Amino acid sequence: MAKIDIKNFNLAELEQFLSGKGKERFRATQIFKWVYQLGATTFGEMTNLSKALREELEEIARISSFTPATVEEGSDGTRKYLFTLDDGEAVESVLIPDEGRNTLCISSQVGCAMACEFCLTGTFRLTRNLTTAEIVNQVCAVRKDADIRNIVFMGMGEPLHNLDNVVRAIQILLDGNGLQFSNRRVTVSTSGLVPEMAELGKLVTVNLAVSLNATTDELRDRIMPVNRRYPLKELLRACREFPLPSRRKITFEYVMIGGLNDTLEDARRLLRLTSDIPNKVNLIPFNEHEGCGFKSPARGAIDAFHKYLIDRNVTVITRDSRGGDISAACGQLKGRMEKKCNPQEAVNHEVHE
Ligand code: SAH
Ligand code: SF4
Repeated sequence: MAKIDIKNFNLAELEQFLSGKGKERFRATQIFKWVYQLGATTFGEMTNLSKALREELEEIARISSFTPATVEEGSDGTRKYLFTLDDGEAVESVLIPDEGRNTLCISSQVGCAMACEFCLTGTFRLTRNLTTAEIVNQVCAVRKDADIRNIVFMGMGEPLHNLDNVVRAIQILLDGNGLQFSNRRVTVSTSGLVPEMAELGKLVTVNLAVSLNATTDELRDRIMPVNRRYPLKELLRACREFPLPSRRKITFEYVMIGGLNDTLEDARRLLRLTSDIPNKVNLIPFNEHEGCGFKSPARGAIDAFHKYLIDRNVTVITRDSRGGDISAACGQLKGRMEKKCNPQEAVNHEVHE
């Protein structure tokens, strides 16, 4: 029988697992601390458990961990980690240093089903969801190299399309006996799966980033097929209703694509759409990748868009393209995937199923 990977359990589930085997529930807290705070990878190390319990656990359970297959470092210090999974698939995580306040960008799926037209991950369709263990192991592995202050679910995949495992991973990230992140330092980014946004807010307290990317349904329908299911009006309502950590604001990500959504008219509509939602705007100049016809915006267009919003008291950050030289920038992650099909088929499959 395959051993159970205890990194797939949140604390409550580990307690249940142990009590189902006739063990004391508080052992779960001890094990959590060993695994997530001390980095234990065997039960044998857990010296505050009886020898009999350690041996019994070794028989039925395991503690998975990741060793990066490769780590590439960009000229700006950004590091891209590639992890090979048990079935031979691969995912990437990106560590973005910022004066001691490192941010780790993690993946939630191998590929992505959402098929956004501008995104490299999206052109590969979905291969599979990551397990809870595969999500937290990205954090556990990189933490051995660097202090991580912020976690963002902005790597490969649509986190809300893998809601159960993402929620469980967040519970482990936030657990005081687990990875001990503050909920103000964990951000889930979504392309706009409206029902799952509400569900996420019910299950955990985290920051939310929404990839807006277009200010009319007409354009958003075209570049983000998810908009055909959940148009802007519904998406913005879900944003308004989302229960953020205290004193936090929604982040609207806006990928600026040259000649497509980069005019002051777009900026004006963006302002109008979002003005009644406490928010900050993250402008991301489109990162070009092979086989995609879209272009980066002109510097002048970025500056003008940025200034338009700043002048109207919007908090705006224009993201410099970190990790561009190692293909670690937003929307450039692809693990080791081969193109599977025409992305248009993925659209039809996902939206009209
Ligand atoms: N699926 C989630 C999170 C991963 S994508 C989401 O879509 O929000 C993370 C961010 O990268 C999103 O804001 C997305 O719009 C952006 N992105 C995708 N492709 C990009 C590209 N080629 N250049 C710049 N940003 C891109
Ligand atoms: Fe998926 Fe996000 Fe890329 Fe869209 S932008 S295809 S949702 S990873």
